[in-house]
Amino acid sequence: MSKTQAAAAKPKTRKTDMVLPIYLYGQKVLRKRAQDVAKVTPELAKLAEDMLETMYKSAGIGLAAPQVGHSIRLIVVDITGEEEEKKPYYMFNPVVSVAKGACSAEEGCLSVPGVWADVERPESITVEYLDRSGKPQALRNIDGLMARCIQHEIDHLNGVLFVDKISNTDRTLNEGKLKKLSKESKSVPA
Ligand SMILES: [Zn+2]
Repeated sequence: MSKTQAAAAKPKTRKTDMVLPIYLYGQKVLRKRAQDVAKVTPELAKLAEDMLETMYKSAGIGLAAPQVGHSIRLIVVDITGEEEEKKPYYMFNPVVSVAKGACSAEEGCLSVPGVWADVERPESITVEYLDRSGKPQALRNIDGLMARCIQHEIDHLNGVLFVDKISNTDRTLNEGKLKKLSKESKSVPA
């Protein structure tokens, strides 16, 4: 998930790890159901690090493995602001086990640049996952931006994009941008 439109204008870079190419709207990997991770290997832990770096570089707050071309159930999330200390989460095989309420807020996506629109989602969730060392973890009854971001990223693992969930009005407003993205991304090898 990307930051607000204003914040996305000033991406912040650090100098470690590898920055990966981000797959854009229209590319097939974004529409596939991603596979469970059988074991958190050192290679997958490194991929998670590289994804986090890619996300920071792009001024994102969440990134799912299919967005960097890997159809596996892995997401990274860090919703802290630029002036705050970083607090990254690496989640393998994340599952929302409890979802309550409903609320609507604006979302954007690093794979759908230039589009921001309101999406309705459960307000409070519990998410269970494996951390970077393969240990089971849970975040219980989280809400706000963190809950929204995790749900947005888990959608990616199921081949769902936030633009699938926006209002007809917003869809019509953004149809031109989506068509353009889809056309451009098809010329990029997947
Ligand atoms: Zn996204």
